[in-house]
Amino acid sequence: MGKRIVIALGGNALGSNLPEQMIAVKETAKAIAGLIEDGHQVILSHGNGPQVGMIQKAMAELTRSDPEKYIPCPLPVCVAMSQGYIGYDLQNALREELLNRGIEKGVATVLTQVEVDPKDPAFQNPTKPIGAFMSKEEADKMVSERGYQVIEDAGRGYRRVVASPKPQSIVEIKSIRDMVDAGLVVVACGGGGIPVCTTEGHHLKGAAAVIDKDFASCVLAQQLEADTLIILTAVEKVAVNFGKPNQKWLDHLTPEEAEGYMGEGHFAPGSMLPKVQAAVEFARSGEGRSALITLLEKARDGMAGRTGTVVCQ
Ligand code: ADP
Ligand code: MG
Repeated sequence: MGKRIVIALGGNALGSNLPEQMIAVKETAKAIAGLIEDGHQVILSHGNGPQVGMIQKAMAELTRSDPEKYIPCPLPVCVAMSQGYIGYDLQNALREELLNRGIEKGVATVLTQVEVDPKDPAFQNPTKPIGAFMSKEEADKMVSERGYQVIEDAGRGYRRVVASPKPQSIVEIKSIRDMVDAGLVVVACGGGGIPVCTTEGHHLKGAAAVIDKDFASCVLAQQLEADTLIILTAVEKVAVNFGKPNQKWLDHLTPEEAEGYMGEGHFAPGSMLPKVQAAVEFARSGEGRSALITLLEKARDGMAGRTGTVVCQ
């Protein structure tokens, strides 16, 4: 029986620059098309770290070259651009791969806004480094002129840090659901979504923040009432004692076991921890729901129960 699956694509599914992405999306499309061929309904979300970094850098150069004409490009605008660029490559690669397999199915990207709470404590404590490294002088200038918050990054220079608030709800969820119900393969919530806050009336205001794509994918999967959340990344399974001599790969975790391991610090913050947290939240959100963490090229095997780490009750 076909399942409704939300798939969160990690950095390795897209590469870290233009030529890499062009090649990477072909492999990604093969993995996704395999699941569609198996009869599953697929919704894709993805990260955007290197892409939004590139766009931000380009926009900063533009501002520098002609300050009269260009104001600094707001971060939510950069996120929107990254969704467009990545969606474009994914749409084309998937379209081609599906047609090669004789499958006629529309693929469409939805520019997705995700609501965050302006009172989210993350806004008081920005932790997510973004954009290029800066010298001390450049960093000081950004702090005084633009009110940026910066951190010194392990001797490599200074970087802007922004808040990473929790996603609350997906603004375009109804459109996404209608498209999925109509049989389209939808790409949504790219880069965790464009963070917005509701203000007066119906106005949505973009926030200078980034939302973790694993958390946004979890909300997407819940709001679409998906059966499975698959988080595709650079490891085949989740491990305890990761990288140590007594490392042990895990095939299955209950939410309670996962929480125990989280408490013992087995999952690195900013990389594996948000994935396990998202998996636990999704597995707990409804009867029969499960999450799978595995490698991109193992997605089909993972869905068939042959590999990966499954989180379910
Ligand atoms: P993505 O781009 O897919 O979000 P991340 O680099 O953010 O990828 O997170 C995945 C990485 O987390 C893995 O490649 C691995 O190096 C690291 N990692 C940290 N802790 C663990 C763990 N306990 N088990 C497996 N991988 C871990
Ligand atoms: Mg990550």
